[in-house]
Amino acid sequence: MDGMDGSVAGTAFDLGPQERRRLFGQVFDLVEEHARGVRDLPVTPDVTPETVRRHLERYDFDGPLEPEGVLADTAAMLRRWTVHTTHPGYFGLFNPNPAALGVLGDLLAAAFNPQLAAWSHAPGAVEIERHVTGFLGERLGLPSGRVAGHFTSGGAEANLTGVLLALTRAFPQVGEDGLAALPGRPVLYASAESHLAWLKIAHMCGLGRRAVRLVPVLPDLRMDLRALTERIAEDRRAGLLPFLVVGTAGTTSAGVIDPLGELADLAGAEGLRFHVDAAWAGAAALSDRLRPVLAGIERADSVTLDAHKWLAMPMGAGTFLTRDAEGLLETFRITTAYMPASTPGAVDPYAASAQWSRRAIGLKLFVTLAAVGRAGYARMIERQTDLGDLLRRRLADAGWRVLNRTPLPVVCFTDDAHGGEAGNAARLEAVAERVLRAGHAWISTTAIAGTPALRACITNLATTEADVETLVTELESARSQEPPPTAAPDRPHYAR
Ligand SMILES: *Cc1c(COP(=O)(O)O)cnc(C)c1O
Repeated sequence: MDGMDGSVAGTAFDLGPQERRRLFGQVFDLVEEHARGVRDLPVTPDVTPETVRRHLERYDFDGPLEPEGVLADTAAMLRRWTVHTTHPGYFGLFNPNPAALGVLGDLLAAAFNPQLAAWSHAPGAVEIERHVTGFLGERLGLPSGRVAGHFTSGGAEANLTGVLLALTRAFPQVGEDGLAALPGRPVLYASAESHLAWLKIAHMCGLGRRAVRLVPVLPDLRMDLRALTERIAEDRRAGLLPFLVVGTAGTTSAGVIDPLGELADLAGAEGLRFHVDAAWAGAAALSDRLRPVLAGIERADSVTLDAHKWLAMPMGAGTFLTRDAEGLLETFRITTAYMPASTPGAVDPYAASAQWSRRAIGLKLFVTLAAVGRAGYARMIERQTDLGDLLRRRLADAGWRVLNRTPLPVVCFTDDAHGGEAGNAARLEAVAERVLRAGHAWISTTAIAGTPALRACITNLATTEADVETLVTELESARSQEPPPTAAPDRPHYAR
């Protein structure tokens, strides 16, 4: 970003220090304005693709535009055409309101732009990330001083890494000769409530989507261990090759935590690898009060923990953590003539992870953790958990029926005052739609063991008791305007 001359002189590549300061200042003002004003914006935009595209037609990129105007208009587009996950009334899908320090840390990463592929190019940033992943691993209870891992674009990449590592360890020939060298087809197990990125991952790995065995859950939505045991036995009899059990710690829909200790026992007894997908709820490990809900996670071979969910970081920031440093090096091993030589005593991230060129994803979390402290994080996480409990109580008071049991702040609920759940899905959709259109809150719909439900999750560190009350009021109002379809008491129960 230094002053330039020659062919770029006079273009917006060539900003002087004054102009840079002015533009940085402008962006800070825009960001600050948004942070202070988001509460007054509708959480959900009302817009069609045509509207956005029509606006963008003014950008033909032929000639240059004034940077101020471009920045201001870009922010305006984001202000008008975004579901504001930074709004305290966003009771949504684990997308947090990023901590200001996280945004600043991300700015440092963008501006210094360290290349984390090889240790020797970015000793500071690589070691900062190693320090942070080591801390997270230890909070989870992975073996002290032996945690390996790295930042990822998100949970999906971390889960992909978990599958590749498990495949490589379970079937050493796969690295060179591929799945075709195996005497059977590898299969992995996750609960029917797990995050369905597993299907994409199995596709991407060449395992095929059917290699993902979605194990039924018990009525409490935790994986049914008996069903798992039976499925493994059945698959072995059929000549398939079970290699990995995935436990979900905090399911995406209902915040349910699989029985991790029992899964670890079972995986051990069956000789399978054990990965825990704790993309959202893994953050609970930072709170002494909540850490026990993750009991058993310390026995995992590897863990997925997103920083861009409950650790309130800007996207994308996942982590992959493992006790198996050697396995990671085997999975991603590579040497080339043109990459810098490896540094004794250090690991080159490009040879231990899926990415090659690598952004300093972890700086934002480092800066925030250092400034807020572990205890500060614990307070934020515990407060959101308390707000979840409040929401659960207030919904029950208002006559909603809560359908999921979890210690985490996600509440799935329905209204069966009018008898039966058949036909209720459309009605709950309509209730959610009304809440969204009113503009003060964002919630979603889901299904809990086949029962249609509304879903509200505390994901914003700025959400208060008053926001919870607003949501309950909005739901009441939406419900009263969305009467049951027909003469409800006589309506028959339809089988699902
Ligand atoms: C969000 C989530 C994922 C996917 O993570 P991304 O960061 O969106 O890639 C995977 N598993 C669980 C349990 C999740 O909640």
